[in-house]
Amino acid sequence: MTDPRRSIPSLDRLLSSAAFAPLLADYPREMIRSMARTELDRRRAKLAAEATSDSPTDSGVSQEEALAGTVYARLAALQDDTLRHVINATGVVLHTNLGRAPLAAAAVDAMRRVAGAYTNLEYDTDAGARGSRYVHCRDLLVQLTGAEDALVVNNNAAAVVLALNTLALGKEAVISRGELVEIGGAFRVPEIMARSGAVLREVGSTNRTHPADYEAAIGEDTGVLLKVHPSNFTISGYVAQVTARELADLGRRVGVPVVYDAGSGLFVDPTLIGLSADEPTARASLDDGVAVVTMSGDKLCGGPQCGLIVGDAVHIDAMRRNPLCRALRVDKLTLAALAATLRLYLRPDQALRQIPVLRMLATTRAQIDARAAAFATECEAAGIGVERVENSSAVGGGASPGASLPTVLLLIADRTRTAAELDRRLRTGRTTVVARIVDDRVAIDLRTVEPADQAALLQALREACAPEPAPVPSTPVSAQ
Ligand SMILES: *Cc1c(COP(=O)(O)O)cnc(C)c1O
Repeated sequence: MTDPRRSIPSLDRLLSSAAFAPLLADYPREMIRSMARTELDRRRAKLAAEATSDSPTDSGVSQEEALAGTVYARLAALQDDTLRHVINATGVVLHTNLGRAPLAAAAVDAMRRVAGAYTNLEYDTDAGARGSRYVHCRDLLVQLTGAEDALVVNNNAAAVVLALNTLALGKEAVISRGELVEIGGAFRVPEIMARSGAVLREVGSTNRTHPADYEAAIGEDTGVLLKVHPSNFTISGYVAQVTARELADLGRRVGVPVVYDAGSGLFVDPTLIGLSADEPTARASLDDGVAVVTMSGDKLCGGPQCGLIVGDAVHIDAMRRNPLCRALRVDKLTLAALAATLRLYLRPDQALRQIPVLRMLATTRAQIDARAAAFATECEAAGIGVERVENSSAVGGGASPGASLPTVLLLIADRTRTAAELDRRLRTGRTTVVARIVDDRVAIDLRTVEPADQAALLQALREACAPEPAPVPSTPVSAQ
């Protein structure tokens, strides 16, 4: 028997074949060449693996045509959006893996207005001269927080790096051992501090730190006192942490600025969105006297990914002049979306109605139950068995770990499949639905499902729960 690998065309023969002519006419030669080479390598490897088994049946298609078909399929796959809309049925409002905050309609409109156009991003129209991109959200942040000045960078991790690099390069940043947290997505406070050029100076213990611990560590080399919101965990029991106010008082007394990484940018009364009254707003942190507050734009703020820095003008100005700021800058789309989001906060009632994450958090158990009951009726009508059960949703995104948001889940009954299998079908169907598994059943939490997406969710459930199509006759059933 001849080695089937010898029948594989050479790369040159493949590229000069009639089957490849249309590909080379439309697409860059080097790209098609390298895709063809990859496919040839794959084919050779496959044949080598099959060398001991029967040779493939002749389908009547030439090798060249078959390989061209594969290259067309790879090109088609490149045309698909890898980043696409998914339905978040997890009930985790700020789901970092699902892109955190969906933007308010006003923010989407604002992005659309500037996206395909020239803008005055860095142009002062009055002066007819170069302007600064940092003016665009500055006044809104100043008015909403009471800060002297404000700056927007790429994300909160960048904000912390910029603050420390500006205020504590080569100096000590004093932090409680109870706040050396990992936020997830590889944001670890000690590592971020090291990269920012500050020298980590730990004080206190994991569960208890007192003002005197900071005081004892302050000296010639102290650059900043850093406070970090624990964000994604709680500790209870024999605990003591120094409050932002206590730390600010100490900082003022010894002439060292306090930087507070507040994690989530909160601009409304936390009790209006189901959070603890202790959750500090940006304004409250500044009122406590800290010099600089850093926050994420896409957590509780409900805006685009960015880092918000507010505080004393002298420090913000130094950060703006730090060359590192240039490497962390935001683009016009971010600024447009952020400004539109912040504008909604000028009237808190409007923010609560129009910013999706706030609206989702503010939704009561009774409201979700009413939606769940109506949706359950639609499911039953479509032949999908569901059960309503009490549970809770999560804020997520490293915000308010202790907060519990009562909700009503819909548990899907599919007697023919395991929960894991149904969950997989929902994730990989025509519409991507990400759900939770509770009590061995797929659970849908409507808190995070936009009402406009409910019809698509129902259709996705219908398709995922559909009986397996009967095997097409004549197709041999392969033994698994
Ligand atoms: C989320 C969070 C960060 C990281 O913010 P990004 O905007 O994701 O970079 C940093 N610190 C705290 C306390 C956080 O909660």
